[in-house]
Amino acid sequence: MRTLVTGGAGFLGSHLCERLLADGHEVICLDNFFTGNHKNIEHLSSNPRFELIRHDVTEPILLEVDRIFNLACPASPIHYQFNPVKTIKTSVMGAINMLGLAKRVKARILQASTSEVYGDPMVHPQVEDYWGNVNPIGIRSCYDEGKRVAETLFMDYHRQNHVDIRIVRIFNTYGPRMLPNDGRVVSNFIVQALKGEDLTIYGSGNQTRSFCYVSDLIEAMVRMMDQDDCIGPVNIGNPGEYTMLELANKIIELTGSKSKITFLSLPFDDPKKRKPDISRAKTILSNWSPTVSLDEGLKETIEYFASTSK
Ligand code: NAD
Ligand code: UDP
Repeated sequence: MRTLVTGGAGFLGSHLCERLLADGHEVICLDNFFTGNHKNIEHLSSNPRFELIRHDVTEPILLEVDRIFNLACPASPIHYQFNPVKTIKTSVMGAINMLGLAKRVKARILQASTSEVYGDPMVHPQVEDYWGNVNPIGIRSCYDEGKRVAETLFMDYHRQNHVDIRIVRIFNTYGPRMLPNDGRVVSNFIVQALKGEDLTIYGSGNQTRSFCYVSDLIEAMVRMMDQDDCIGPVNIGNPGEYTMLELANKIIELTGSKSKITFLSLPFDDPKKRKPDISRAKTILSNWSPTVSLDEGLKETIEYFASTSK
């Protein structure tokens, strides 16, 4: 199999490239390096089955591939809000270009969608049949609505052009190779704890998220691409649900840090709660379920940040 991974130099993309190479695939990693990093993939560059292309998914590209994982898109609020017009173009034009490519070469294509399609959810935990509660005109909309349109495009190319699609809705995922300045809560808290700085909780800290360790996520994505029975959407995440206060205290404890907690204002439209219902994933993906606990995953991630900050 020759497999294209867009956004392959990013956090999730680099782990996916690594896994696909280990499984024997030829891997083409495509990235414009907006939030991606050469360091994430430099250990793969000597593999003769690995190829890197600097390219922007908002522009068409001609390649011969069997499979496409479409991950290109900044994922953390500070990065996707940096240039919101570019963010929505990346999701929408990127989906059109990659679906066009999949249609031409008859490749199976998987979209990395997101729990953000549920917005500030009125249904808890979130099931795939829930249509969501998304603000179409807010500061998160460039990301949330871009991803929703991408799902629409995937479904329409499937119904109209019979493109072989897969859609996964990824819930907050963390692990080594997140950027230290990424702005996401796990990386922020770990970096702050390791430096002995105050951990910055936005709002009261009672909002909840569910955190999936990267290896569990990659396993599910690979199984989703390989299975023949379900195009999705399928939620992928770890249903353990934590308040940001609980997460902060856990990270202080695991790092043995003397950091304190400080409370800052809550960003606009910040979802109050988030927890995946993963029943569909368990059924479709041969009994997949997350295996790495939050404590174990955080320890690995803390080790990574500690070693890279030296
Ligand atoms: P990331 O920012 O580390 O990776 C995104 C990658 O896409 C980067 O390498 C970036 O340079 C690249 N990219 C961005 N715009 C591009 C463009 N126009 N053309 C080509 N490349 C471009 O983020 P991540 O956490 O690895 O997320 C990967 C994908 O998974 C994203 O689509 C994201 O929306 C989705 N996702 C991630 C999470 C999570 O918790 N990590 C949750 C839900 C969905
Ligand atoms: N958050 C926080 N402190 C930080 C960064 C984030 O309290 O330093 C909060 C943020 O307001 C949100 C939650 O943590 O309620 C998860 O934020 P993240 O950006 O990681 O993911 P998302 O909001 O996109 O799910």
